[in-house]
Amino acid sequence: MTGLLDLNPMAPMDETARRPLYTETTTSQALYLPIAPPTLGTAGAVIGRELYSGKAFIYCPFSAFGDGLPGGNMIAMGDTGRGKSSLVKTYTARQIRLGRKVVVLDTKEQKEREEGEWAALGRSLTGRAPVKFTPGGGAKASCINPMDPAIAGKRQIELVRTIVELGLGRPLGEFAGSALRLAIRRAHQRATADSRSPVLADVAAALRSPDATDAVAKKRSEEELLNDGLEASYVLDRLCGTEQDASGDLLGMLDGPTSLSVDLDADMVVFDLTKVPSGGVAMTILVAVISVFLEEVWLRPLCECGAEPSQHERRVVDTSSGAWELGANPDSGCHRYTQRKRILVCEEAWHILGTPQLAALLEKFLKFARGYGLSCIFIVHHLSDIDDSPETQAALKMADTVVVYSMKKSEAEDTVRRLGLPAWTAEHIMRLRRGVALWKVGEVIYPGVQHLLTEAEQHLCFSSGSMTDLTTSSPDLE
Ligand SMILES: [Zn+2]
Repeated sequence: MTGLLDLNPMAPMDETARRPLYTETTTSQALYLPIAPPTLGTAGAVIGRELYSGKAFIYCPFSAFGDGLPGGNMIAMGDTGRGKSSLVKTYTARQIRLGRKVVVLDTKEQKEREEGEWAALGRSLTGRAPVKFTPGGGAKASCINPMDPAIAGKRQIELVRTIVELGLGRPLGEFAGSALRLAIRRAHQRATADSRSPVLADVAAALRSPDATDAVAKKRSEEELLNDGLEASYVLDRLCGTEQDASGDLLGMLDGPTSLSVDLDADMVVFDLTKVPSGGVAMTILVAVISVFLEEVWLRPLCECGAEPSQHERRVVDTSSGAWELGANPDSGCHRYTQRKRILVCEEAWHILGTPQLAALLEKFLKFARGYGLSCIFIVHHLSDIDDSPETQAALKMADTVVVYSMKKSEAEDTVRRLGLPAWTAEHIMRLRRGVALWKVGEVIYPGVQHLLTEAEQHLCFSSGSMTDLTTSSPDLE
């Protein structure tokens, strides 16, 4: 197995005489100041302190683009209780203060609270409860409709096909795929005639009652067309349940009209997936649907001033070619269209990265993240949680920023090997204090970044109260 991220060891740190850091902060500052890596600039969210230089550590995935960071995606890892969740929570809260929007896919349940890890933070920032998915539905359960008209035609066909293939466990053949496409179109027509939005059950019904004109157009008999699509209809029945059988895996989550209880314009939207069995087909399908839904609805072009591109004036930047860019918006007083920046957090991301179909879907998302003004953050315990499939490797390669908190020896060695970090970092990682992480941003390693919290942030982060020694407050950094 080759190094997962296929990166060369960092030249300046490569196996030099530099020794791992076991010293007190003050000693390390004195020792390492002359060779500390350059800071990341002053734009962005304050993370804390870079222990080698003593300088403030400020990180912004969006402005770091200009400095050679190809994307803006992050993976944070480390043993439980070492500080990775609290880092990402305060970081996203600080980004929200800079005008960013955040969506969280939360699959980590807090047993004592019967809700997701991020529920409390989302509630304190927006006053709203998470969008909660519960198998079987229920009073406060949410539903996303893959057949929602908000999802554009071609994407919707891809999405419904992905759902069927995930349910089936293998790709659909050419005939079945064609029957499914026709059924999706018919489901839309038939539902529109009834003045309602189509749902997956309408697709299953359309597969079982193919239209005669569709059969003619495809040079199939009606019976052949029925046979082409019958298996897909069985899969949809099994997933969504039927009137006779209310036991579908997706029942109450994807089988009705979209009922998002939270406005996607909120600063932070938390999708609570903690009640969905992990590793099951429902989780996989749900994440696939949510990611397409986010792409179609949440990531729409919008300026940081809140106005759409069309409300900004076109400004010709090259008269000979007529090339233009979006300039001022007189109504909002905005000088230039700037794509609103967004952050997507996947808590316990091995659920996602460990499923090849989802990793593949996500890779597409990550590849275009920069164009969307999007930064994705994955939180995992260890890389060993994540398999080594080509899809996963490809998705992991999209993470330009890697944050490693302390982990045990075997995990640290595995991480160093898979990330292609210099060998000395393995022991260094094992010895990192709680709240201190090794950051790799693009090609540069910051061996000791201490995350600092203000008093006001502490209650947001530690709902379990288990991390008291990270509570260093530092008013001068805020
Ligand atoms: Zn604007």
